[in-house]
Formats: sequence, structure tokens, C-alpha cells
Amino acid sequence: MHQVNDAYLNTELFMQPISESQPIVPFIQGDGIGVDIMPVTIKVIDAAVDKAFNGEKQIQWQQVLAGESALSQGLDALPIETLETLKKASVVLKGPLATMMGDTSVNAAIRQALNLDLCRRNIHDFSGRASLLGRSSFPLRVVMRHNEEAMDLSFADQLGLGLQHEQAINDGLWVSHHYWSKIHTENLMKSALEYALLSDMPCLTLVHRAHLLPHTEGLFLQWAQDWLANNCDCRIDNQAWWLSKDQGSELKIQFLSVEAFLQQCLNQPNLSQLVVTYCRYGDAVSDVLAAQVGGIGVVPTAHLSASQAVFEPSHGTAPKHAGQDKANPTSLILAGEMLLRHLGWNQAADLVHLGVANAIEQRMLTMDLAKQVEGINPISCSEFGNAVIEFIRNH
Ligand code: NAP
Repeated sequence: MHQVNDAYLNTELFMQPISESQPIVPFIQGDGIGVDIMPVTIKVIDAAVDKAFNGEKQIQWQQVLAGESALSQGLDALPIETLETLKKASVVLKGPLATMMGDTSVNAAIRQALNLDLCRRNIHDFSGRASLLGRSSFPLRVVMRHNEEAMDLSFADQLGLGLQHEQAINDGLWVSHHYWSKIHTENLMKSALEYALLSDMPCLTLVHRAHLLPHTEGLFLQWAQDWLANNCDCRIDNQAWWLSKDQGSELKIQFLSVEAFLQQCLNQPNLSQLVVTYCRYGDAVSDVLAAQVGGIGVVPTAHLSASQAVFEPSHGTAPKHAGQDKANPTSLILAGEMLLRHLGWNQAADLVHLGVANAIEQRMLTMDLAKQVEGINPISCSEFGNAVIEFIRNH
């Protein structure tokens, strides 16, 4: 059976342990499959907290409206009351929200309003599943990115540059702008290095495309290396930079183009690593790694500032599966695990982790995973949740 012994699990950046026994935690149900996965996830988290703390601790869930649930009540997609509640919360659980073509993303608006600069995704292989590449399991990979850089011009807009993310030159010609800043690069490197050392990762990989855009993506690489050179005593050889850790081992720091990194994912799948990149490549890189362990249905996401954290699944609203009790709730359940660790409720978080691992090992698989393993009939979203809860109650 799985053991919860990975250092990364107990390494939450900007963790906010709480003394309250009944904290209020706002949640946004989410559009599409949010209606399926959110109730199941809340039941799993409640069962884990109840079991871990014998009823002495409890989350008081507070539903707030956003997306379709707000629009259907004649409100804005991100009502002001919701935003006010989110701004006061230290942690939030969020389902996926749809972005219609041309509309401002409610997801991005929440991240900007709460200054959630940092995004982290844990790509963990629950080894019961036969992997896509015929391997038994992959090591942990974690992807960390800055949320705004490169694709989003709100920061540049604040400087009054009058730039738009996408701008028409004429009917047949559009340009898109992206930007990169030294301060965001340095903050990202600082958080990444702190996380890599605390969680005892063997390797930190910075993924870039410096050769293509030397004055933006190239400077990302340069500023990152300058920051490391000024703040750490690294040994440099032909292959990589190396930083001594307290334990006597070394952290390998490598700088790879996105093409080289994607090849390495296939050629050296045994490498456990923290991958640091920017918004532009963050989703693509984490989705490729997710595909190796079953898909986006099993990868949780944390969006972090120094004082707040929003936890959500890595996938979107999967509208064609909405309301059918078929979607995989694992990504949101594991986001709930991250939330519990952020609060310092690790006993409950461990139970959630073990419950998911056990269900997957027992081949209790929702459709997305079942179709990757021969001879398995899929179970429903709620059946998966019940299997996790049963494990938690009997553990
Ligand atoms: P998606 O919702 O992630 O779905 C893509 C496909 O992935 C689905 O059709 C389904 O594949 C599979 N899938 C995703 N989640 C699953 C789950 N929990 N269980 C089982 N299968 C799952 O991506 P999309 O279709 O590109 O985006 C739909 C909407 O979501 C868009 O409006 C987008 O803007 C939004 N979105 C929101 C967020 C967020 O809230 N943070 C993130 C990404 C996208 P099969 O069809 O093969 O079954």
C-alpha cells in the first residue's frame, strides 16, 4: 500500500497553519462537471477531517457564486460579493470555470484580484494504474510557474503602456504581446529554489525558449541564472549547475529549451524534478506530464500568494460530461488534500491521499482512467468518492 512519505507532500509554500477548529472555507462549485466533482470532493474532505480529528475539527463550507451559477441568477460572472469573500479568505476551494471565446476569464480575474502569482501542480503517479507508456510508475514531478507573465498584460497595462494581449494590425494580421519582468523572474526562482530544497527534490529544471525570443524569454533565462549566481554558491559543469544541500547531496539545476525538456520527459522518465517555467508553457508542460500518469483528471493545482491560496483541479469544465456523474473527481480531491496541508491539517490530508491511492490501486477507475487499462469497467464519479470515503473510515 502507498505510504505518505514524500517530503513534497508536507512542503507547502506560504503555508498558513490555523489554530481555529472550525474555519470557514469558501468554495466555488464550478461550471460543467463542477456539479459532479465538487459535492463528491467536499464529502471526501469532510470524512477525512472527521476521521483524523475525531469530530473535534470541521470545515464550515461557504458556497460563493461565480461563472454560470452567478449568471443564472442574473449576477455578474464574478459578483462583487464573491470577490469580497474571496479576498478575506486564507484558502479557497474552486471548481473549474468556463471561459467563452472573447470573454475575460473569470479564472484569471480571480488570480489577479487576489495577487495569486504562483501556480504549482503536483504530478503524482498513483502506481496502481498501468501507465500509458507501459511503465509501472513515474516519479513525482512538480510544475511551478508564474501566473501572469508572458501571456497576460495586466501588469504591463498598469504601467500605462496601452498594450493589449492580442491586437489587430488589420483584418488579416494580428499580433500578440507578451512580456517578462526581472522582478517576477526573481520571485519565481526564489520560491522554486525554496520549494526544491525543502522538499528535497533532486533536480530543478528551468524550461525556456531563450533562443527564439532573446529579449523576453532569453532574459528570463539570463535573469534566473543571474539570481542563482548572486544568491547561491553553485558548482557549474558542462551539463548543469549543482547546489550543495544540507543532507550532503546536491540539487541539480538544469536549463532546457521546451523542446529538449519534452524529449527528456520521454527519454529520461525516471527523473523526479521541479519544473519551473512561465505561464506560456506551464499548462502545456504540466499537461504532457499529466498524460504520463493518467491525464489532467488526476493533477491538482494550487494558486498562491504570500497570504492566500486557491486550490482547484488542473482541468476545465469538460462540458460534454457535465451532470452525468461520470467525471473523475481526483484532481479536485487532491486539490482538497493540498488545501488541508496548507492549513496544517496533515493527518486529514494523508487520509485523502491514501484513500485516492487505494481506490486507484484497487482499479476503481472513472472513465478517463478505465479506458487506458484493458478489461476495466468504469465506475461513476460518486462511486469513486464513496470508495475513497470507505477507505478513510476503515483506515
Ligand atoms: P477540459 O474541460 O479540461 O476538458 C478536456 C477533456 O479532458 C474533456 O473533454 C475530457 O476528455 C477530459 N477531462 C477533463 N477533465 C476531466 C475529468 N475530471 N474527468 C474525466 N475527463 C476529463 O478542457 P476544455 O474542453 O479545453 O475546456 C472547457 C472549458 O473549461 C473552457 O471554457 C475552458 O476555458 C475552461 N477551463 C477552465 C479552467 C479552470 O477553471 N482553471 C482550466 C482549463 C479550462 P474526453 O472528452 O476524452 O472524455
